[in-house]
Amino acid sequence: MAAEQIRVAVAGASGRMGREVVKMVLQDDGLTLAAAIAQSAGPIDAGTLVGLPACGVTVQNDLSAALASANADVLVDFTVPAAVYGNTCTAIAHGVRPVVGTTGFTPEQIKELDELCKEKGIGGLIAPNFSIGAILMMRFAAQAAKYMPHVEIIEYHGDQKLDAPSGTSIKTAELIAEARQELRQGNPKEEEIIEGARGGYYNGFRIHSVRLPGVFAQQEVIFGGNGQTLKVRHDSYERSGYMPGVSVACKKVVTYTGLIYGFEHLID
Ligand code: NAP
Repeated sequence: MAAEQIRVAVAGASGRMGREVVKMVLQDDGLTLAAAIAQSAGPIDAGTLVGLPACGVTVQNDLSAALASANADVLVDFTVPAAVYGNTCTAIAHGVRPVVGTTGFTPEQIKELDELCKEKGIGGLIAPNFSIGAILMMRFAAQAAKYMPHVEIIEYHGDQKLDAPSGTSIKTAELIAEARQELRQGNPKEEEIIEGARGGYYNGFRIHSVRLPGVFAQQEVIFGGNGQTLKVRHDSYERSGYMPGVSVACKKVVTYTGLIYGFEHLID
């Protein structure tokens, strides 16, 4: 093992994203699996859990105990919105840099976690989306909003997703809000005949969340202008598409101090 290898712990190792992360870490020459944590998965070898040869790391269910003995540099978290804030605080308390894909943070929590990272002198990353295509979609949407400020977002995910709207759509909305003047769209006299029909309200525009079985992750940002519309759309088909981004994040997070929100800031 090369001395410069980064030791990665994975929270949510039994989950759909977590299993992809474990696989990626075991196959990435620059990373070593330091620990694997899952809420209810039994004591099983992490390699075996993801269909690879046994790797000698047993999946545990106590994050704090795992981090106390793992000598990890980074904790990658793909768990659930209810657990991720606590997990991130635990990682920082152990001096382990959080790389977080789980969505559901409030702006206040992000600010507080940034301060905690700075106090500890470590880096951290919260990334609502690790996919390069999704980052380009967000960037193009922000550019278009300067010229076509009337916009709505439709995001599509599987029906088991817990939070709505998606972290990616919130991040997109924030970038759009930075790029245009606040503009209350639509007819000021419009009425919702069925509650929620117009979607969630953000900075004068609407975000719609579709939840259906069979869908993986898609987002459409629709701009309307005089006699024309423009659509910027991104489709994710499988979880492995996020892994190059997670790998880059694990390697870059050890090079700076403070918490970065948004993977796009790491690749510029
Ligand atoms: P999932 O398959 O449901 O996996 C969730 C994982 O969290 C499981 O390992 C589960 O462990 C664990 N868990 C559940 N409750 C927990 C708790 N209270 N404390 C600690 N761990 C707990 O979910 P997923 O599809 O992998 O998605 C995970 C998160 O990633 C979601 O928030 C999703 O929106 C987000 N996501 C982000 C990106 C991105 O690019 N940033 C991409 C895709 C998904 P057990 O199975 O042992 O209960």
